[in-house]
Amino acid sequence: MIPGVGPPFGVYVHVPFCLRRCDYCAFATWDDRSHLISDYVRGLVGEVASAAGELPAVTSVFFGGGTPSLLAPDQLRSVLELVPLAPGAEVSVECNPDTVDAERLAGYRHAGVTRVSLGAQSLCPHVLAALGRSHGVDSVVGAASAVRAQGFDSWNLDLIYGAVGETLGDWRSTLEAGLELEPPHVSAYGLTVEPGTPLAQDPARFPDDDDQADKYQLADSLLTGAGLVSYEISNWARPGHECRHNHCYWSQGNYRGFGCAAHSHFDGRRWWNVRTPERYLALLDAGRPVVAAGEHLDEVQRRAERLQLALRTSGGVPPEALDTEGLEGLVERRRGRLVLTVAGRLLANEVATRLR
Ligand code: SF4
Repeated sequence: MIPGVGPPFGVYVHVPFCLRRCDYCAFATWDDRSHLISDYVRGLVGEVASAAGELPAVTSVFFGGGTPSLLAPDQLRSVLELVPLAPGAEVSVECNPDTVDAERLAGYRHAGVTRVSLGAQSLCPHVLAALGRSHGVDSVVGAASAVRAQGFDSWNLDLIYGAVGETLGDWRSTLEAGLELEPPHVSAYGLTVEPGTPLAQDPARFPDDDDQADKYQLADSLLTGAGLVSYEISNWARPGHECRHNHCYWSQGNYRGFGCAAHSHFDGRRWWNVRTPERYLALLDAGRPVVAAGEHLDEVQRRAERLQLALRTSGGVPPEALDTEGLEGLVERRRGRLVLTVAGRLLANEVATRLR
């Protein structure tokens, strides 16, 4: 609960356009449809406007994608201004370093954005190439200094480890160079192989589990040493800079998604919109619902999911929810809860099978 505001309620806005598709990406995004952007924004405005009256005070908004930073500040503002924000709401935008400069970031700030998530992924040129990213190291450094110069209260540096050809030394360089940019929040995800991606068709480029474990431990050690605190398996932040929108997801909070492929959740009921921007726009134009399907979780399913999510956070789970036999060294007691140790975070899925 946020004092004086009420329970958290998130809004997610999906922007399904990218300059170029990264080799590992399975998100609902397209790199050949920029001609649809202005129609899509018009569609978002319509969808948000028709739902805004039903929304409670919104404590966090997240523009994700895709590459939301392909939206001009006025386009982003036209959507954001329809959302009934709670006082002090967090408004995050995912930005690709290639697509932002001081002017665009200033425009976002003026439109009400409070937080930027910068998709750096690596600060080694050959690793960026191996990931199929469109930007170079200079773009990341330039974008980070522009984010800082524009005075954003909070921002995230998003990193990926485990690409082919990335040594432990390369990963250390990325972390050290990343920390020099002074991000108050860092996300570091192990590269995963998603079906249907170019990466999935090339086993020679698959990440190695042991290598990723070493890289995770190095990340935790360097990030923690720099004063960032692990608050979820893949997320570290200086105190006060944790992402409120992520907290909403991880605490099974309610949220409403807008745009194609966006998911929503309300008290155990989940639904999601049609996947492609064309279908989304066609349905809106025909005055028909854009929801593709939904499901309802019963109380048993909700409890299981709640514990799985909580186990991945530094808040942990109640002691009675976990059978700890044989889990020595993987969980520890903190403030009356059971929380994963660093070794436990590496085996989180195995530990989760012991939830009861
Ligand atoms: S920029 Fe992000 S959303 Fe776009 S293709 Fe790359 S990983 Fe996917």
